Formats: sequence, structure tokens, C-alpha cells
Amino acid sequence: LSDNGEYLNFQNEMKTKTCLFLLLTSFNFVLAQSDLGNKTSSPNVIIILADDLGYNDVGFNGCKDIPTPNIDKIAKNGVKFTNAYVSYAVCGPSRAGLITGRYQDRFGFGRNPLFAPNDPEMGLPLSEETLATALKKADYKSVALGKWHLGAHESQRPLKRGFDDFFGFLSGGHQYFPELWTLKDEYEVKAQFDAYNTKLLRNNDRIEENEYLTDALSREAANYIEKYKEQPFFMYLAYNAPHTPLQATDEYLNRFPNIKDKKRKTYAAMVRAMDDGVGRIMDKLETLGLSENTIVFFLSDNGGPEHTNASDNGVLRAGKGQLFEGGIHVPFAMQWPGKIPSGTIYEAPIISLDIFATAIAQTATPIQTKNELDGVDLIPYITGKNKTKPHDYLFWRKFDAQNHAVRNDMEKKIVVIKNDTMLFNLGSDISESNNLIETTPEDFKQLEKTYQNWNSQMLDPIFMGLGQDSEYSKSNLNRYKKLQ
Ligand code: CA
Repeated sequence: LSDNGEYLNFQNEMKTKTCLFLLLTSFNFVLAQSDLGNKTSSPNVIIILADDLGYNDVGFNGCKDIPTPNIDKIAKNGVKFTNAYVSYAVCGPSRAGLITGRYQDRFGFGRNPLFAPNDPEMGLPLSEETLATALKKADYKSVALGKWHLGAHESQRPLKRGFDDFFGFLSGGHQYFPELWTLKDEYEVKAQFDAYNTKLLRNNDRIEENEYLTDALSREAANYIEKYKEQPFFMYLAYNAPHTPLQATDEYLNRFPNIKDKKRKTYAAMVRAMDDGVGRIMDKLETLGLSENTIVFFLSDNGGPEHTNASDNGVLRAGKGQLFEGGIHVPFAMQWPGKIPSGTIYEAPIISLDIFATAIAQTATPIQTKNELDGVDLIPYITGKNKTKPHDYLFWRKFDAQNHAVRNDMEKKIVVIKNDTMLFNLGSDISESNNLIETTPEDFKQLEKTYQNWNSQMLDPIFMGLGQDSEYSKSNLNRYKKLQ
């Protein structure tokens, strides 16, 4: 009995221990699961935005003279979009669309904003929610790096628009060499383009920086990934490269001994600096084991201004500033290893507005956006789960120039420049050289009607733009003065 009793005791003790063991293991298991859960269900989001990059100036679109091995890797690891658009043909409005996921004309951002640090209306209206603000609802940390261009007034700066950190500049462009950053802050600016010469900002402070701007932005990107590695993060990395002024270091220039044209050579060097930076970011993600849990987008904010920066839009007609393909059809790639099959090519029309919707659709906790989005979650389309097309129509409007364009989900596009009306079949004529308006006027009418319906929902611009620089200064005599 005693033996038996001891045996029973032993059995009970074992049961208790086993239970405890199971309880502890399952507890650990739950912990491990929730760790894993956080990581797999709320992916990090990195948007790498180039500035004025030509459609043809990345390897994955066939560029021959500028190698972009790191940018190409994004397309190789994930998806290359062959019909990707931005919502405007120049910097400011295109960025306003991207960061809100909405056509910028919905909130009156129909012009490229002026540098006006005292004007709370000159930039993204406070009624709009940025992607950073939206992702905060799912406990993301966010950092904006590089070019802001969505308002220089203190109420519109990155830290007031949902970002936890900022490193960069507020204006629409910047000098690349530190020795040219001679102005202490925005109050030493005396004219629109002086803002290119200000010292950089880290959060709210002007700082000293010694590196070539593109390298500094890449360095900061890698550092912030390290800083945020423990929780979901959103990084908006807005390089100003290869926007003018054309400035590059010898380190990058020397990689192009075969390009004789000085302008193209400098442009190539600037693109290469950015590509090196993309490599640093990808390496950092890899080293920290974050690659699988990070969605990376790469695109340009508008087409290349070929004559200004020696960019190349390939077969696309025209460039920056225009609603022909060269102005709005951009290089665009995206990776999310494990979720997007590598080497995917996606051909249906998509738009930069889709980035917002795609990002918020992947979070662990669902996000309710403040405003209705124009973009859609691209993932089901890319993976083939949804066989329809993301957009029936895409729209563009240049308010001041009275230009507009619309394309449907097939291949038809209209371009209207004041009274000059054009209809193209992009499937057979990507260069928009053959105006079909006489042969299929009914297609034009249908697209035009759809545009007018969309246009009736848009607002007129709410602030003066780059074309009204002197007019604005005349009516705002304290434009750059430090107000008490
Ligand atoms: Ca641009």
C-alpha cells in the first residue's frame, strides 16, 4: 500500500507538474504566438520616393547606362507594375495624393505649394489624415525623411502630421552639398528658392550635417530602421534625388566614365547614390531579420523633366508637368517576401493613391480612416485572388492650365489641353502618337462624361502656387518674417 500510495502520490505530483509544464509551455506558446502575431500581421511599411526620376531610368524598366541593382531587387523580389501612375505631374500635389490616399483635388491641393512658413493654409489641409496618422491607430511609429513639401507652417510639419520623427527639409527641393546650406533657418530665406539653402531639420531643430544629402538620408533611413525594429513602423523616405540642382560627388561620378554628356553623367551619379541608399536599407532589413515583415514600395513622384535633369522617359510622350504618359506614368515596384510572389509583373493600371489603402489593410488591428480613400488594397489583385481590375477609371486634372486626362481599365485614355482633345489607345500606342478622336468619338464622349462627373466632386485650389510666387509675395509682405 505504502509503495502503491507513494506511487499514487508520485503520479499526482507528476500530473501536477505536467499540468504546470503544459500550462507554462502553452503560456510561452501564447507569448511566442503573440510576438509572431504582431510581426506577421502588422508589417512595417517603407515608401521610397524618388523625385523626377525618368520612367526609363531604372534597370527594371530597361535602363542601359545607369545600373540600379538595388532598386531592381525590389521588383525582382516582388512585383513590377507596368502601368503605374501618380495623381499629378509635379511634386507637391502628387505627394499630397500619396500621403492621404485621396485625389488631392478633393481638398484643394491643385497647385505646387509656395514656400511660406507663416501661412497655415499653404499645404496639406488639417482636415486630411496622413498615412502616418492612420497607422498610429495600429500603434505604428513613423518617420519622414527628406523632402516634405506639404507645408512649411509649423502646424503642417511632419511631427504635426502623424510622424514621430523627421530628418530633412520642408521645401520642394534642396542643395545636395552641406557647404551650400548657408541659411540658419526659414527666417533667413528671402526668396522662394533660398529655401534650398537652409540647414536640415531633425524634428524641430536645425542641425549640422556633413554628408552629401542623398547619403545622409540613406544613413538616417538605416538608423531609424534600427531604432524602430521592435515595433511596427512606417518610413516615408522621400529622396529629392534626382531633382535639380544636378550635383553629385566624385565617388558617384567616377562610376560613369562612359557617359560623356555632363548633365546625364551627373544625373546618373545622383540616381546611383539613391540606389546605393536603397541597398543600405535592404541590407539593414536583412540583417535585422525584418525583410519578410516589411512592405517596400519604390516609385517616382512624377515623370522625368528630360530637358531639365537629363532624365529619360523612354517611349512615353513628354514628361514632368504634362498629362501625357511621360508626366504621370512612373517606375513603380513593391516587395513583400512571402506574400507577393517574386518576379510578379502586374499590368492593370494602378496609382500611387493605392499605397495608403494597401498599407492600412495589412495591420493587426483594423484601421478606420477619417476620410474616404480613392486608392484600393493592391495585394488581392497582385496575388491573383481578385481577378478584376483595381480601378475602372483614373483621373488627372491641372486646374490652372485647364488640362485633364482620364484612362479606363482597358487601354483608352483621353487628354484634353484646353480645347485640344485627344483620344489614345495605350495598348497599341503607349507613345500617344495617334489621336483616335475622329475614328471613335463615342469613346471620347464616354470618358469625358465620366471625367466631368468626377470633376464635379473636386475643389478649386485653396492656395496660390509656384506660378504665383511674386503675386503671393506682394500680398503677403511678411512672407518670411519671424512673427512674434
Ligand atoms: Ca518631382
